[in-house]
Amino acid sequence: METVQKNLETAIAKAAKIIRDGGLVAFPTETVYGLGANALNPVAVAKIFELKERPSFDPLIVHIASFDQLDDLVENVSDAVKLLADKFWPGPLTFVLPKTNKVPEIVTSGLATVGVRMPDNPIALELIRKAGCPIAAPSANKFGRISPTTAMHVKKQLPNVDCIIDGGKTSVGIESTIVFVEGDTCTLLRAGKITIEDIRESLPNNFKVIQHVSGEAISPGLLKSHYSPTKTLRILNSKTETLPEGSGLIVHEQNHILKAFAHKTIVTSPNMDYHQIAANLFSALHTMEDDPEITQIFIQPVEETGLGLALMDRINKAAHQYQK
Ligand code: AMP
Ligand code: MG
Repeated sequence: METVQKNLETAIAKAAKIIRDGGLVAFPTETVYGLGANALNPVAVAKIFELKERPSFDPLIVHIASFDQLDDLVENVSDAVKLLADKFWPGPLTFVLPKTNKVPEIVTSGLATVGVRMPDNPIALELIRKAGCPIAAPSANKFGRISPTTAMHVKKQLPNVDCIIDGGKTSVGIESTIVFVEGDTCTLLRAGKITIEDIRESLPNNFKVIQHVSGEAISPGLLKSHYSPTKTLRILNSKTETLPEGSGLIVHEQNHILKAFAHKTIVTSPNMDYHQIAANLFSALHTMEDDPEITQIFIQPVEETGLGLALMDRINKAAHQYQK
């Protein structure tokens, strides 16, 4: 297992005490930075909603560092969930499972289920172990805004958080895949790095793996608008579109034809590598949002296959409120 450096160890020990004392800590995971509190302390969890200005109907994901911690949180774990957890944990896969009454209602927004995952980041795991409790943590940004992939991104939106552990840039860059398994059906509630194909391959053949139909109330946090920059964001229609003055352009291939016309261009990946795009997507949006010379942002779409499904989910939601 990876270990953390000495000065980080001190930072983690301090942060763990803050969590135990009912405070909030922003910390890196492999997906994005999380804003964590003791998941079993409803008063601490309430501070997350307050600081993020997150509506109380949007449930939080609980982060654990060992399989044993599941016992306190969930009623039962089916064989299929065990199979997937063995394969993908620690990693960016969240399970929605029936909760025990130890999990405060505020964590789950009153639902009978709780979202749980084991993050694949040595700092996050060490923090959970040292705190001695599961940590409820949504992304460390104001509700609806761009998710943070660096400690600076957190500072920009949540300057008053009790503590930020700087673990550098997150490796995956987009939020976890969320699944709900019931009987022999596995429903994908949110797309992420672990794709629907990855899940299909990992389950026995008799399992149906389906995508959540939006509009059904299984996952109240699946809003149409999310991850938004404070400037207009539009998805490019074609390579021949002309860009107005003050345009920032985010593309995913080195030789994109519009590069020359943009005031500023960020290339997330030289050649449409979806993992690289995921790692750099939110960072690119933050950079454009912070640049005073940029008045509107244009972004190249990707194909909705494999990880592209998760990427277009984030891009469509980030652009939703600006769509005409
Ligand atoms: P995040 O804001 O990235 O931490 O993700 C939280 C999201 O996980 C919520 O917006 C929901 O979509 C989903 N989620 C968490 N808990 C549940 C649950 N019990 N049932 C369904 N979806 C959940
Ligand atoms: Mg979030």
